Amino acid sequence: MKIEAVLAFDAVADERAKQNEKWGVQRHGPFTWLAILTEEVGELAEAALHDEFGGEHADTLKEELTHVAAVAVQWLEQLEWEELDLMQALTEGGTNE
Ligand SMILES: [Mg+2]
Repeated sequence: MKIEAVLAFDAVADERAKQNEKWGVQRHGPFTWLAILTEEVGELAEAALHDEFGGEHADTLKEELTHVAAVAVQWLEQLEWEELDLMQALTEGGTNE
């Protein structure tokens, strides 16, 4: 893996750990996840605008893009967990909690 990819994935993993520390493991429906992701995309847009035209959120583009990626990963983790839980329930009669 190229160094820039390693750095990007590390940043997202670090942000995921921070999110879990702050909020605990999150389980939401798709509309709530989409609202959370959209809120982060809004902050990313604000960062881009402030970089372009000035503002208090200038120089936060990388941070906000990391937030977007981390929320998307967290949502995907839940979908994977649900599939694994279903598979385990079907094969063993248990859960993966
Ligand atoms: Mg953010």
